[in-house]
Amino acid sequence: MEYRFDRLFIGGEWVAPIDGGVRPSIDPATGKPWGDVAYGGPRDIDRAVAAAREAFEGRWGRMAPWERAALIRKFADLYATQVDALARIETQDNGRAIRESRGDIGMHAQYYHWFASLADKQGGHTIPMDDSVHAFTTRSAVGVVGTITPWNVPLMAAAWKLGPALAAGCTVVLKPAEQTPASSLALGRLFEEAGFPPGVINIVPGDGVTAGAHLVAHPGVNKVAFTGEGETAKTILKTGADTLKKFSFELGGKAPHILFADADIENALNAATGSAWALCGQSCALGSRILVERPIYDQVVEGFRRNAGRVRVGNPMDPATHMGPQAHQQQLDKTLSYIAIGRDEGAELVTGGTQLAGDGYFVEPTVFAGVGADMRIAQEEIFGPVAAIIPFDGEDEAVAIANGTPYGLAAGLWTGDVGRAHRVAARIEAGMVWVNTYRYIRWSTPYGGVKSSGWGRENGVDALDDYLETKTTIVST
Ligand code: NAD
Repeated sequence: MEYRFDRLFIGGEWVAPIDGGVRPSIDPATGKPWGDVAYGGPRDIDRAVAAAREAFEGRWGRMAPWERAALIRKFADLYATQVDALARIETQDNGRAIRESRGDIGMHAQYYHWFASLADKQGGHTIPMDDSVHAFTTRSAVGVVGTITPWNVPLMAAAWKLGPALAAGCTVVLKPAEQTPASSLALGRLFEEAGFPPGVINIVPGDGVTAGAHLVAHPGVNKVAFTGEGETAKTILKTGADTLKKFSFELGGKAPHILFADADIENALNAATGSAWALCGQSCALGSRILVERPIYDQVVEGFRRNAGRVRVGNPMDPATHMGPQAHQQQLDKTLSYIAIGRDEGAELVTGGTQLAGDGYFVEPTVFAGVGADMRIAQEEIFGPVAAIIPFDGEDEAVAIANGTPYGLAAGLWTGDVGRAHRVAARIEAGMVWVNTYRYIRWSTPYGGVKSSGWGRENGVDALDDYLETKTTIVST
């Protein structure tokens, strides 16, 4: 399939931006541009919202749910044929190792299929009243959805929003992150090829503070589905306040990965190291705080040193590479600054800590041990390949440290004691807790955070609730 990146996808057509233009997109493995990508501004967002509204009030809005489902399935089947191409586009744009991009993107068709299967199952229910009154609920699509996605996993963030939005019957304006817009634009070709009516999906890359803010403030948008940083979410709430639209937020995390001494240590260790450096550390649910019970502390620190030495860092397009570069210059600077902060705070640098020579944004997998739970490297989201190992004694201390940040996205715990597994999982403040596994998710498992990690859930049957309105009808007979 031929993909183009120098146009916006609005109303089923590839159009030149009115307010923007094209700009070079940077390959983080070289620090150099790999091609030109279109970006739009407020008037492009206006056009996209108008097209989405027209589709919502037109053919798409009138389509039977099973017809919508058939189109989503067709799109999913096409998507499955394009995994390799999409993975290469995304890896070129954000530097994620191609083996990871293929693995992740290889699952997306299943997400779309699963949401398609829910499209015709969104009925309401009847409510018992007295004999002379009948009451029932019906559910209908929220309307036009503005979806705003981050640079670390553009296609995954899109799949988790577009799947339920389309299944519910909404139309969408997708604004991907300015650093990595290419793979999201590629989706336009697939929607076109699948035969979606014009305007159901519109794709407008652009800057957050111009295109993104305009989308959020737009009175024609009924809901904003956002994945990104908490600070951005606060700005978005203020920007959207005047229109009182709906919001869902998937935000940052500082997930605790708790290793009890009675765990299967080797498995726990491999999961903990793997998840500390996956996506080059740039994923919200990674176990970036490793809480280790004292009797196994030295063994775990040594295991982290050993496993860090086995990580192959390099050209992300090479299938043998485990870890590519940081996705862009600002993220590289952020990661390096936190490594300096960790040193200044007195944490022990076990391994890593430096940028690799060359033009790309590569950093070594980095391990700090002896980290205090209140240190900044244990409290703040770094979003780089930096693991912070924190010792603890007993369940109560583990839970206190685990819950001791503003975040509450995910957590993991490893133990051989089933009672402890249930006790600790129940006490942890997080939207997701993994026990004796980590980062295992599917389309059917609700994903999202508590506290400062977000509002709402993506995936699972719960995800559709955010894209549907409930109407109660009460009839006197
Ligand atoms: P970010 O908040 O900087 O940007 C995310 C998106 O918001 C981009 O598209 C950006 O253009 C847009 N944006 C920025 N300012 C805006 C504004 N004023 N109005 C409207 N839109 C605006 O986040 P990021 O750096 O791209 O992504 C990393 C963050 O995303 C991390 O905190 C990470 O934990 C989080 N994340 C969370 C999940 C999850 O599922 N919980 C998944 C992936 C990433």
